[in-house]
Amino acid sequence: MNVILLGPPGAGKGTQAQRLQEQHGMKQLSTGEMLRSAVASGSELGRQAKGIMDAGQLMPDDLMVKMISDRIAQPDCAKGFILDGFPRTVRQAEALDEMLATKGLKLHAVIEIKVKDEVLVDRIETRISQSQAVRSDDNVETLKKRLAVYHAQTAPILPYYEAQNRLITVDGMKSIDQVSGEIEAILTAAVQG
Ligand code: AMP
Repeated sequence: MNVILLGPPGAGKGTQAQRLQEQHGMKQLSTGEMLRSAVASGSELGRQAKGIMDAGQLMPDDLMVKMISDRIAQPDCAKGFILDGFPRTVRQAEALDEMLATKGLKLHAVIEIKVKDEVLVDRIETRISQSQAVRSDDNVETLKKRLAVYHAQTAPILPYYEAQNRLITVDGMKSIDQVSGEIEAILTAAVQG
């Protein structure tokens, strides 16, 4: 199955994607992780990504679309994939639809994990106070910029999928297990439907 997890930074997309990967063998494709490995490798792409990520801004659409298109074609995505952090703009969502059509692939579910901004700020403050913040963009100031970018550039994806009757929203303020349970139910229904 091929699934998109949407939602603001800190909503729990990565956690839920990892669970799906473990339980169903679908591959988690996190564009943020791919960019962080590029930064760690010191490549040209990494150098470009570091400044943009630390500023809470988005990488160019074409670059991200190419990255996902190449990744989806790898054999480890044969059992399906979970997109975590992509698409992040309407342009990326449109390009994804075109790409999947070209590759003859289907999207089984588009799931939004919805969390209020205040809760996200509280979550990151807790992570920092418990010294669990491991990313250089894990700080309140950058989170606030990332949230502003989310509302301006990424949230318009929601009506894009809604208009196609494809969007299902789960309450990301519930516990991790409850959110997982709801996602499981959505995927079960998607397989049956
Ligand atoms: P994430 O780990 O998904 O929160 O992504 C971390 C950062 O990587 C984001 O704040 C962006 O700077 C960049 N990034 C990740 N995915 C994308 C994408 N699909 N389009 C543009 N920039 C992205």
